Amino acid sequence: IRVRPLTCTETRRGDQQVVHSLGDGAVHVSAARHDATFGFSAVFDAGASQEAVFEGSGMRQLVELAIDGFSCTVFAFGQTGSGKTYTLMGPLAQSKTQPASPALLGLMQRSFTCLLEQSRSRGSDLVLSASYLEIYNEQVRDLLSPGPPCALPLRWSKTRGFYVENQLSVEFESLEAIVSLLLQGSQRRRTSAHALNRHSSRSHALLTIHICSRAVSAHPAPGEGWGASACPSKQGTLCFVDLAGSERVKETGSSGELSVEANSINRSLLALGHCISLLAKPRGKGTHIPYRDSKLTRLLARSLSGSGITLMVACISPSSRCLSETLSTLHYASRARRVTTRP
Ligand code: ADP
Ligand code: MG
Repeated sequence: IRVRPLTCTETRRGDQQVVHSLGDGAVHVSAARHDATFGFSAVFDAGASQEAVFEGSGMRQLVELAIDGFSCTVFAFGQTGSGKTYTLMGPLAQSKTQPASPALLGLMQRSFTCLLEQSRSRGSDLVLSASYLEIYNEQVRDLLSPGPPCALPLRWSKTRGFYVENQLSVEFESLEAIVSLLLQGSQRRRTSAHALNRHSSRSHALLTIHICSRAVSAHPAPGEGWGASACPSKQGTLCFVDLAGSERVKETGSSGELSVEANSINRSLLALGHCISLLAKPRGKGTHIPYRDSKLTRLLARSLSGSGITLMVACISPSSRCLSETLSTLHYASRARRVTTRP
């Protein structure tokens, strides 16, 4: 859980702070008619730095597991304006002219640095590539391919599961290269200004790093040859998901196009919540999980169950005005915590 500080607007209008971290992963919400404590693996309160979030959330281990060949996903969840994009990217994505101070860089840039350091120190040759997609109004778009955004088909196959056809994957070798891909893609993302956040993301964005490592000095176990041409390799992925925020149409002052957007955002978040609830319940082998209900759940199917390792960062505002959204995020995150996967 990450609790952001009160914003200037919230402080100015005298909003009460209703969320408090109690230490040891406990977070307490207290307001007029609500008094509840929730437990999580970690809670970062308003004073927590970006570095503390990176080190305390298990993100570093996730990067290492991805290098070892696992499918790892981190997703930021929460109400619009709760700090999802800030947590993943820092303020960088929002200002084209001024580069962000290194202390404010988010989980993504820190993970890239860690990944490139590891790849250098391990001495094995890693081939790194990135793809960057957004889901906007139930359409999957490539954020890296040049030209106006066009919708890509989402398909399913027995061997690959759900995948996006014709998505661009760009190889990179340096921090500058991947950060510039991130910036390019983020600037093409669909955002709109509305009452809760001036740069609100109106789409779900998925940046995936594909890590292919060839073991240079490994030897096959006795009696277990590699075969004539096969070179043992591991293929891991590290996927960063910046979800569009949940919101109540009434509160954001959205109308027309904005409310169509809000409805499709809410619909896919609802589908995600539904899958998470079903996955969190003890269930028989045949329980149907409705991944097909939205593009988002199809793309996240592997991360949510099956063989993935997933970190969910639920972002909340401490303000009394956000109380009901905050409680709903905390309930959502509590359910997500009960989902187990078999990496
Ligand atoms: P979201 O992506 O969830 O809609 P943002 O990440 O855009 O929200 O955050 C909304 C605003 O709050 C931004 O101006 C951002 O800079 C600020 N903010 C969010 N989290 C923090 C934080 N932990 N510390 C300081 N400012 C923050
Ligand atoms: Mg955002």
